[in-house]
Amino acid sequence: MKKASKKTDLQSKKPSSKRYVFAFGRETDGNARMRELLGGKGANLAEMASIGLPVPPGFTISTEVCNYFYNHGKTYPKQLLKDVKNGVQKIEAQLGKNFGASENPLLVSVRSGARDSMPGMMDTILNLGLNDQTVEGLSRSSGNPRFAWDCYRRFIQMYGDVVMGVQARNEEEEEPFHKELEKLKISLGVSADTELTTENLKTLVTRYKALIKKRTRSVFPQDVMQQLWGAIGAVFGSWKNERAILYRQEYGIPAEWGTAVNIQSMVFGNTGNDSGTGVAFTRDPANGEKIFYGEYLINAQGEDVVAGVRTPQPIQMMAQTLPNSFKDLEKVRIKLERHFCDMQDFEFTIENGRLFILQTRNGKRTGLAAVRIAVEMQKERLMSQKEALLKIPAESIDSLLVPIFDPKALKAATVIGHGLPAGPGAATGRIAFTAANAEIETRKGNKVVLCRTETSPDDLKGMLLSQGILTSRGGVSSHAALVARQLGKVCVCGAGDVVINYEKRTLKSGKVTLKEGDYISIDGSTGAIYKGMIESADSDVKRVLEGKLRPTNSYTFSLFETVMKWADRQRSLKIRTNADTPAMAKQAVSFGAEGIGLCRTEHMFFDGDRINFMRQMILAVDEVQRRSALKKLLPFQKKDFVGLFKEMNGRPVTIRLLDPPLHEFLPQDDVVRRQLAEKLGVPFDFVIDRIKALHEENPMLGCRGCRLGILYPEITEMQARAIFEAAAQVQKSKKRIKVNPEIMIPLVGFQEELADQLTIVHRVAKEVMKARKVRINYIVGTMIEVPRAAITADEIAKEADFFSFGTNDLTQTTLGLSRDDMGLFYDEYQRKEIYHKNPFASLDKTGVGKLVNYAAHKGRQTKSGLKLGICGEHAGDPSSIDFCHKAGLNYVSCSPPRVPVARLAAAQAKLRDIE
Ligand code: PEP
Ligand code: MG
Repeated sequence: MKKASKKTDLQSKKPSSKRYVFAFGRETDGNARMRELLGGKGANLAEMASIGLPVPPGFTISTEVCNYFYNHGKTYPKQLLKDVKNGVQKIEAQLGKNFGASENPLLVSVRSGARDSMPGMMDTILNLGLNDQTVEGLSRSSGNPRFAWDCYRRFIQMYGDVVMGVQARNEEEEEPFHKELEKLKISLGVSADTELTTENLKTLVTRYKALIKKRTRSVFPQDVMQQLWGAIGAVFGSWKNERAILYRQEYGIPAEWGTAVNIQSMVFGNTGNDSGTGVAFTRDPANGEKIFYGEYLINAQGEDVVAGVRTPQPIQMMAQTLPNSFKDLEKVRIKLERHFCDMQDFEFTIENGRLFILQTRNGKRTGLAAVRIAVEMQKERLMSQKEALLKIPAESIDSLLVPIFDPKALKAATVIGHGLPAGPGAATGRIAFTAANAEIETRKGNKVVLCRTETSPDDLKGMLLSQGILTSRGGVSSHAALVARQLGKVCVCGAGDVVINYEKRTLKSGKVTLKEGDYISIDGSTGAIYKGMIESADSDVKRVLEGKLRPTNSYTFSLFETVMKWADRQRSLKIRTNADTPAMAKQAVSFGAEGIGLCRTEHMFFDGDRINFMRQMILAVDEVQRRSALKKLLPFQKKDFVGLFKEMNGRPVTIRLLDPPLHEFLPQDDVVRRQLAEKLGVPFDFVIDRIKALHEENPMLGCRGCRLGILYPEITEMQARAIFEAAAQVQKSKKRIKVNPEIMIPLVGFQEELADQLTIVHRVAKEVMKARKVRINYIVGTMIEVPRAAITADEIAKEADFFSFGTNDLTQTTLGLSRDDMGLFYDEYQRKEIYHKNPFASLDKTGVGKLVNYAAHKGRQTKSGLKLGICGEHAGDPSSIDFCHKAGLNYVSCSPPRVPVARLAAAQAKLRDIE
């Protein structure tokens, strides 16, 4: 082939305009790898079209347009008008139908589609393109006037709601279009929608239009292009609706991703009894079992299934009612799973016996299902071990550890009804009928179960706060079920036995009537609903780990063990735990902890008499008094450390010297203050005066951390002595258990502070080792939890054997944001998406993270082998763990129950890094 010269090539090239619209169908522009631009739905539609699955043709408007829309006062790029027109023409050409034509009109759906699916959070419009003329055309081309008018009334209903804003004005009000429909049915004496005649539907259309006029003072648009642009605007607009924002926060989806808009030719599941629509999962999304799972409705449109308005049939029933379509569907199930190598959740429509696939995506699943599907798909060779590990959201592991109802308590409980098991686990709480009431009750510290006839995306906040969700209508793919599964919430849905009356605030099931605020319990694994509160019991995994169940008797445990083994093989980060008692340490070790990364010694002083000795020490006026109180504390400290060292059996144990904000230890209440005075044998006024003298305006920034040990060196001395005495005792015990204490100095900001404390620690170590004739293998390091420590890490590292990032305080001091007082403005910050995630839960990578990276780098410049860890709450958060891996930390230290999650997250961080 002749090569054109470079020059000619360049000269002949026209300035290329940006591409905003991507077709799928006979010609397909995109593929599954283009999720960023086309959104998940658009990319997968393109992929399905290109592997020959029956996808109705259409086009996707890219996510870039969404960003343009918000950056340019809700307008579009100029060329989009032409591109959309072209897109429509391409569909018209393929189907031989015209948009807005009075004969054989083309109808389309307009749907959102973000990079990650956000089920039900944004808007959708179906049957677009119908007006007073085209409805007659559809009536003739389908030969089914009833069907045409049913589509028209559905379209007006959706358009009126989504684009024109005709909606229920509060939680108690019924959805206005639904109300009109019900009113008409009652007046006609019919109960099912399917009983409405063409004439009835025409009446409904007139009433719907009147409702829109009355509510909006505008008429329902007849121009189909106007309809299309109205719908496109509404879908882009829904990217920033309240529930989408809330959802993004929950799942850490950045606002900049934007949504795509998919415009696709309609196929109809409501043309008669050889038509239908449904949602299917290639495996069971509740427990992961390899069965074909899903549901369908005959003679209905997709929204009927998803909205939970009619309760559908299980997919297996289709083998009898639509046997040929069922066979086609089985083939699609296998093809989809093999092609996408993951469990798929797909929507289908059968139009007069012909199957169409409208969407596929990786199915949302419970934590248990995520683990089971990954392990089993690996066994089936559909994915490698590494791929399987990356498929399991690290948080899912938690759901294998969640409690189940205590079997004894369950036997005594009264079952009042059943629903569909949609989100496994056991939940008990007070009944709340609205999301608002769920919020009020949880604020009071009560647990709630949200009970609704059906949920809508507006209930998201209430669902997040509830222990579980119970609905009386809707199937396993209804909104309630999807969202609950994803949130890891217990959910029972479609409980036909249950009648909820919002006005009377009652829930009736059989003969039992419960009121709002009464206790109810639900089992999301069996679907059972119980009256009253039921104690819950530990999960299989926990029972095996505690030796209460044989490992071979639990499939769940074998799944857990497999994933943990795989993870441990991959990760390079060590996982430690924050534990202050031998019991906590024991639990953490059973979960896989490889050491203690933080023992907060002040937590050892809350119990029994110790608190009084501690208070005596704080209130002491001079060294003599202080030493006397410390002497009483020493045996307690020593005993605790002996317990910890024994339990950890040679694993490293990081003990942090005292770091109490003093006010936490002093009694606020006069009665307790008086009791303290009596106990200590001092006058009440003395206690009051000392408390006044020790008062600090900002105790969090006051005399805490190493400042305390610098002010009162005898405290550091007592703690060091307790540690080394305990170490000596355990090392010299019969079992000769090895001890590796790592002593940690808190809240250091100056090299000199650390040097001051080190002198005491090393002196006491020498004294104890000499007196007890042992060598103790110890190291001394510091927390990095104020910005100055991070900034001067190179200097501080001269004194330290290790750094542990205290990201709770480092976040507090870097953001200038109190750990305890952010409630007032936090919601508003989230709503405005200033904080994508709570910075105390997930590390602020661009702010605090920079300090961590800088300190790690500077510290290792001084000492290349400096050990680095993290012990703030972030150490249990998967995305922060990913950051820690990249920052080159040696370990993360999290609370005991988070250890399995951290093991998996650390493996995933490593695998992503290699990728
Ligand atoms: C920290 O600040 O991150 C830390 C672990 O210490 P504490 O939470 O005890 O202040
Ligand atoms: Mg701290």
